[in-house]
Amino acid sequence: LPTLGVLALQGAFREHRRALEALGAVVREVRLPRDLTGLSGLIIPGGESTTIGKLMEDYALREPIHEFYRQGGAVWGTCAGAILLAKDIEDSQQPRLGLMNIRVRRNAFGRQVDSFATPLEVQGLDAPFEAVFIRAPVILSAAPGTEVLARHGEQIVLVRQGRLLASSFHPELTPDTRLHRLFLELARLDPRATV
Ligand code: GLN
Repeated sequence: LPTLGVLALQGAFREHRRALEALGAVVREVRLPRDLTGLSGLIIPGGESTTIGKLMEDYALREPIHEFYRQGGAVWGTCAGAILLAKDIEDSQQPRLGLMNIRVRRNAFGRQVDSFATPLEVQGLDAPFEAVFIRAPVILSAAPGTEVLARHGEQIVLVRQGRLLASSFHPELTPDTRLHRLFLELARLDPRATV
C-alpha cells in the first residue's frame, strides 16, 4: 500500500490519519518539506484556512507541495483544505496552494446553519454519503477540466480535477471511509493520466 501524508500544521489531521489507517494505509504527518518524500498522496485537512496557509508559508511548504503534485502526487483538501486548493477565493488574498481551477466562497452557509449533516448523492458511490459541514465553503464555480462529483442543492461541494480532490465537508468525521478509499485510488493513478 502507498504511504499517504496528512498536513499536520493545524486542524482535523488526526481524524484523517485514523480514516486512512482504518483502510490499511501507512500514514505520515507532514510538517516540513522533507516529510513529502515518497508519499503518493497528501490530505490538507479542515481547520482555519488563513492559519494553515500562513503556517504553510512559514514552513516553506508551498513550492514543495506544488512539486509533489507535478511529480505525480495526489492532493485532497477538505473544508479549509479545499479553500487552500482553490485558485480563486472570493474577497480574499490569503496565502493558498491554488492548484485547482475552482472559485470558492468561505463560510458560505451562513450563521444559522453554521454546521449541519446531510446525506449527499456522490457520483461513483452507490448510496448517499452522510456529509458533515462546519462553517463550510462552497465551490462557486468549477472550470473545464474539473468534474463535479456532488452538490448540496444547487451548490457544488465535491470536485475532482485529475489527481486533485476538493470537498466542502468533512468525510473524516464520520465512520464512512468511501471517499478516503476513492482518494487512495487517485493516489495510485499514473502521473501522466488525466481525468
Ligand atoms: N471556515 C473555515 C475557513 O474558512 C473552514 C472551516 C473548516 O475547515 N471546518 O478556513
